[in-house]
Amino acid sequence: MQTVGILGGGQLARMLVLAGAPLGMRFLVVDQVDDACAGQVAPLIRADWRDFDALEKFARQIDVATFDFENVPAETAQWLAERTQVFPNPRALSTAQDRLAEKTLFRECGLDTPAFAKVDTREDLDAALRAVGAPAILKTRRLGYDGKGQFRLRSMADADAAWEALGANANGLILEAFVPFECEVSVVAVRGRDGEFRTWPLTRNWHSNGILSASLAPADIDPKLQAHAFELARVLAEKLDYVGVFALELFVHQGKLLGNEMAPRVHNSGHWTIEGAIASQFENHVRAVLGLPLGDTAALGRSCMLNWIGELPDARAILNESDGHWHDYGKSPRAGRKVGHATVRARDDASLAAALQRVGAALGRGQQIAPVIDALTKR
Ligand code: AMP
Repeated sequence: MQTVGILGGGQLARMLVLAGAPLGMRFLVVDQVDDACAGQVAPLIRADWRDFDALEKFARQIDVATFDFENVPAETAQWLAERTQVFPNPRALSTAQDRLAEKTLFRECGLDTPAFAKVDTREDLDAALRAVGAPAILKTRRLGYDGKGQFRLRSMADADAAWEALGANANGLILEAFVPFECEVSVVAVRGRDGEFRTWPLTRNWHSNGILSASLAPADIDPKLQAHAFELARVLAEKLDYVGVFALELFVHQGKLLGNEMAPRVHNSGHWTIEGAIASQFENHVRAVLGLPLGDTAALGRSCMLNWIGELPDARAILNESDGHWHDYGKSPRAGRKVGHATVRARDDASLAAALQRVGAALGRGQQIAPVIDALTKR
């Protein structure tokens, strides 16, 4: 029996535990808060990321460590790697923690990105705006997620307000050109300890206020572009000697791919794989970090994942569907917080669109679901 240690105890850790239990795995979770929702399904140690006494105790009890939270300090990941096996490796984690390092790596791997420039001072911001142009987005290089730590600039005149909002950030900033993309997609991929690499079918994503709102898989984009996206993900994983699941978020713009960001962990846009693929991202992540053979990533029909942000809607709208799947993360409601998701699956596009129509009407959430139905009916 092996024990997997997870740094971070949110819904990703919770779903890793639920997927790993049938494989006979034990889990130990460490988080900074007492009520981390993975603590409802696995033992939880409450500790700060720099509490090395508690981490020592954690390291002694596990066979391998992994992450539910990518912003664990790089020193902590390195410290752990000197005591136990850590996947993904600390270098991959620290690259993905910094938007500047990440975009620089994308370009080295042949993946184009939105125009970007490093911003450390108010003068840098003016120079960056001249180089990148407006509209643009100023982002914190580190610790930003779900649209947090971002400021949209419509023109040069917004520079003062943007600096006011983010200039005090000690970790540096990056200015990116705003891309009027056709759509957003993500590659969810897994690499084993032996270098075996697999991708799930490409996922199309819709965001609302910077937070993922809905995902549709398999996405329906040009097969050549898909093959290119998978190849780029493979190159990136090899370059980082990555082990485990990761997501590569891409914009499709003027028929080309642009790299937005990489998440060094299981990802919200891969939640549909729990019911919608032969092996889920969670099961394959556990298999990968333990050096077990990887499961088949093929899709089972069509899936739409809907995120529940802030509070849960009425579960019955999903449970009434013959292939509707409900996930309650066991968190208390709070504005902007991911509290659960649902996956609706069907054998073809028309049946999925019909099921989503019923769900949208029952929940009064037509707005969240309409773009997915629109995409399904157009293909
Ligand atoms: P991020 O935290 O960088 O993934 O940003 C969250 C969401 O904001 C993305 O999924 C996009 O919908 C949007 N976004 C971020 N960067 C850009 C950009 N350069 N151009 C257009 N939209 C963006």
